[in-house]
Amino acid sequence: MKKSGLVLSTPWEVTETAYNLNVEANIATLFTTGNGYIGVRGSLEEFGSVRIQGAYIRGVIDRIIEIPAAFADNVYMKKYYLNEEGLRHFEKQDSIVNFADFLTVRITIGGEVFYPWEGELLDWTRTLDMASGVLRREVRWKNTRGQITRIRFERFSSFADDHVYAQAVTVTPENYSDTVEVLSGIDRTTKTNGQFICLPVSSEAESNIVQYTELSGEHFRFPISTACLSRLYVDDQEVGGWQPEDGPDILGSRIRIDAREGVDYRIEKQIYIITARDLPGMDPYAGAGNPEAPEESVRIAATRDAARAGVERLCHGRYADRFASHLCAWTDAFAKLNVTIEGDDTADRSLRFSNYHTAITLARNDHVHSLAAKGLTGDIYNDFVWWDCEIYQAPVFYQTMPEAAKETILYRYDKLPAARENARRENMPGARYPFTSSVTGEETVWAYARHPFLQIHIVADVAFGVLNYYQCTGDDELMLGQGMEILCEVCRWWAARVSEHDGRFEIRNVTGTDEHHPYINNNAYTNYEVAFVLRQTAELCGRYGSLLEALREKIGLTADEPARWLDIADRMYLPMEPNGMIPQFDGYFSLSRTLEVVGTGSATSFQMKQSGLYHKSQVIKQPDVLLLFTYLGLHADPEVYSRNYDYYVQRCEASSSLTYPVHAIAAADIGMPDTAYDHFLKSARLDMDDEHNCAFQGLHTACAAGAWLAAVRGFGGTELKSDGIHLHPHMVPWWKSLSYRVVWHGQTVRFRLTAADMTVTADAANTADIPLFTPAGRASVAPGGEYRFSTALDTAVRFSSITGGEA
Ligand code: BGC
Repeated sequence: MKKSGLVLSTPWEVTETAYNLNVEANIATLFTTGNGYIGVRGSLEEFGSVRIQGAYIRGVIDRIIEIPAAFADNVYMKKYYLNEEGLRHFEKQDSIVNFADFLTVRITIGGEVFYPWEGELLDWTRTLDMASGVLRREVRWKNTRGQITRIRFERFSSFADDHVYAQAVTVTPENYSDTVEVLSGIDRTTKTNGQFICLPVSSEAESNIVQYTELSGEHFRFPISTACLSRLYVDDQEVGGWQPEDGPDILGSRIRIDAREGVDYRIEKQIYIITARDLPGMDPYAGAGNPEAPEESVRIAATRDAARAGVERLCHGRYADRFASHLCAWTDAFAKLNVTIEGDDTADRSLRFSNYHTAITLARNDHVHSLAAKGLTGDIYNDFVWWDCEIYQAPVFYQTMPEAAKETILYRYDKLPAARENARRENMPGARYPFTSSVTGEETVWAYARHPFLQIHIVADVAFGVLNYYQCTGDDELMLGQGMEILCEVCRWWAARVSEHDGRFEIRNVTGTDEHHPYINNNAYTNYEVAFVLRQTAELCGRYGSLLEALREKIGLTADEPARWLDIADRMYLPMEPNGMIPQFDGYFSLSRTLEVVGTGSATSFQMKQSGLYHKSQVIKQPDVLLLFTYLGLHADPEVYSRNYDYYVQRCEASSSLTYPVHAIAAADIGMPDTAYDHFLKSARLDMDDEHNCAFQGLHTACAAGAWLAAVRGFGGTELKSDGIHLHPHMVPWWKSLSYRVVWHGQTVRFRLTAADMTVTADAANTADIPLFTPAGRASVAPGGEYRFSTALDTAVRFSSITGGEA
């Protein structure tokens, strides 16, 4: 564990107070700046990252060589984990690429290049300002000649224009007048997973503008073009003298300054990045064999022209102009996600930090790609979209930024043809979404790993996402346009995938959410979720009636299909013992209980894998049964809920970070606020505290999003459903207040929870009343209105029997 040492110095600032090479790569993850389109790790401008110097564009991927680390030769690994045959034929893997590093600004003082590990660092502060989304660094550095220089860096990724990144660097000689040289440009030697993947196309440099165009790699060949404008200001006056430089690694502009003691020299660098993917008609997947796509040379030229035009537009303004428009957009977006906790600075600031990361993961303007497990903070996990998207990440946006959240549904809709093709290859009807999804919608999961191929719960998760979005938004237009088509195709697949035994339906040979137990029958999470999806879809078909005529025609949907889905849902085997315990899968309770969890985090997982005992034990990687009560919202008797919680929480080694938010919500629901609080803090601070020893690889963005859910759904007890907002708060006793905002069916509403009561305030701009279901009874809040209820009335009796939620 490499604790970052970051200080939550004010409610809106996270600060690093000293340079520490040991955690440099962890902090690069934590200090990522981004806007959902692009993500730029918090690496140093002078190219100081010792691990991953990373800049990524969502959905700009290619193929890399990626083989697993050596694993023990044991039954578990052979039979359940690694597919040796797959490994033998394994070639290359889809992965996001780390494109050219445009952050580069190298400063030479008295002939010595500034690096933190050279000379003497007198002061060092790096601050991520969450109020503005700006990363700042201030250093005082003494070179070997005793010259002391103050250097201030700042940078941000524009929320006002996805393609714009801006930097400013101010150099001030403190005790000397001498030559200072600045090289500002693009480093073309970045690697992805240790390999050079991107292919150079052209380098152009003239005075203070440089432009570099590359292809994502040999397979997809996405053109990417980056153009940088560098300018120097003294006393707010622009000073010329830039010389282009096309070096072995850096393509840049160099300027020589006769620097005088005490004077500020401010370099402003504005960057415009664009890919062919962003240009109409320039099909981004042409490299994957689309015969109708324009020639590669045409796509490259169009991308280059667009970057050039972009940077020329940037010439008309300064860093401050870019910042002003960014700040407006950022403030507006972040206000939607922000949660305020009074009376506990650690909780308040840690959650704001994880919400910052949630905010920079979502692309608000397109759906060429969706929410990836590491966001755009590292190469690891390849920018894949997992079930994390629909179950952990997108729900935050369904409730806060429904317009942007819609893009996550449209992404899945765009991949529906590929999902149909995936099903067809298995000789199945309908659509089969891949466990990990990338730009093509084909299965991209590592061919050498066995278990993910069985995690077919993803097919229900995608549908669950659509239903959840609909509950939160009431967006019939999207349902009729795209949502119902996804749902019906998914149900067709499930109707063929289930098997009938003695009058009930079962789902055999799967892996549930817990990857330690592959090849199992009747996984609780999968069976319950599939029944829910089939029932809701059938009911929606009935409710929409003739409005679905066009869809019926388009996909040949017959009247008896929804009836069959309902029948399967009615007769689905929903495992539960007479005492209310839900077995995670058939035979789970007969596995060994003596193999106990010996700790939490990835190290434990590794030991168990080495000993090869998982398949014999009840030790689980992450929650499965508990998801039914927390995320899926399937109602259960409180006694059943807490009995299952007590049992499973002890058997969970939490080697997936997806554990903590679920445990937080469950503990809050069953009235254990202090335990819930511990899990909540782990969710919010996972990478800051490097709980899983891998923060350097990238941020666990689903866990970060889960921290928002833990606060709002867990402590706030807030659930958005079709009929209104359901509230069953469980306040942390030592907090003074918990405040947040959600949007239900287009109506904005704010909550303030204290130990005594909850106040619900509807926006004055709302157009309709919001129905509320509270422990005090039913109520509704009119536009501009306020409703308050006492939380003292809240009892645990809010669950009925297990019936499934509602859409
Ligand atoms: C977890 C999966 C998760 C994936 C990506 C794995 O370690 O077990 O459930 O989808 O990470 O976050």
